[in-house]
Amino acid sequence: MHVLENEPMSKHTSFRVGGPARYYVKAESLAELQEALALARGENLPHFILGNGTNVLVSDEGYAGVIITLAGEFSTIESPDGRTYRVGAASPLGKFARATLKQGLSGIHKLAGIPGTLGGAIYMNAGAYGQEIAQHCTQVTSLDSSGNMRARTAGECAFGYRHSLFQDLARNGAAETILSATFTFEPAGGKTVEGLEAELAECMAKRKATQPLNMPNAGSTFKRFAKGAADTPTQIAPGYYIEAAGLKGTRIGGAEVSTLHANFIVNAGGATARDIAALAELVQQKVRDKFGITLEREIILL
Ligand SMILES: Cc1cc2nc3c(=O)[nH]c(=O)nc-3n(C[C@H](O)[C@H](O)[C@H](O)COP(=O)(O)OP(=O)(O)OC[C@H]3O[C@@H](n4cnc5c(N)ncnc54)[C@H](O)[C@@H]3O)c2cc1C
Repeated sequence: MHVLENEPMSKHTSFRVGGPARYYVKAESLAELQEALALARGENLPHFILGNGTNVLVSDEGYAGVIITLAGEFSTIESPDGRTYRVGAASPLGKFARATLKQGLSGIHKLAGIPGTLGGAIYMNAGAYGQEIAQHCTQVTSLDSSGNMRARTAGECAFGYRHSLFQDLARNGAAETILSATFTFEPAGGKTVEGLEAELAECMAKRKATQPLNMPNAGSTFKRFAKGAADTPTQIAPGYYIEAAGLKGTRIGGAEVSTLHANFIVNAGGATARDIAALAELVQQKVRDKFGITLEREIILL
């Protein structure tokens, strides 16, 4: 088990902010994960599982506990038949999505531009361009806080829009570590690998054109609204309200509401976590004042 003390979390999050974690542990096997959890229990400290840190804002004070990141044996992508997959939680989502594409499977190929891990994707039910990781998931294996392995069907994982059971468990003090998930895909009726590649290329081009990928950020700040019968796609997008409230380019310290995509907050240089959190709150307040609606944060605060 690889343990670092007082490790700056700015090195491990896509916002590039965050103070030191008391312990930062890389667990490469189940035994090492158990050891890391035992370290937290032994020192009476909380623990937090970090994926690729692309949806998390860690406070400037850091984390007075054990941050555990998975690697090694949790990074495998196995497919016995090219149609069913067993994927480790530390595997990059993009790698998995591209592996399915290469097999001519459609279903999650449009998720290849999401910069997180499979574990983070399951926890968040990550999605884009009409696809969600939950859609083809059949089972999720996890380790509960007492060290017991759990296997749940996708139905038991309470997936919803950017939601899973694992968020509820964490909120209730019963956080589990997602270890792996299994998936089943049907062949992409009539679509060729080239056709799927073209669809992905179109999504990647859209991302490049509409998202501030050249500046540190953590993706969408706020969740989309549920789609009502009368809504247009624009009206369910938080960015529509943020832009209409005149907030693009608004800054607090080094944090800025992206001038390219209103639902992104970027670290425009030297931002602190406090700047980013304060800016998110300001956006929520201004949108509430102007439209009477409440934006729900997607980014996890730690
Ligand atoms: C440029 C950019 C574009 C993005 N585009 C999209 C998009 O199109 N769609 C989308 O849905 N998201 C998007 N995101 C957000 C983010 O990439 C996703 O939410 C992703 O799924 C997070 O994965 P992660 O590994 O980085 O998780 P982290 O940010 O490290 O963690 C997120 C949460 O998941 C939990 N978690 C992570 N791994 C585990 C595990 N093994 N066990 C238990 N809990 C775990 C963490 O504790 C935390 O609460 C984007 C982010 C960026 C920076």
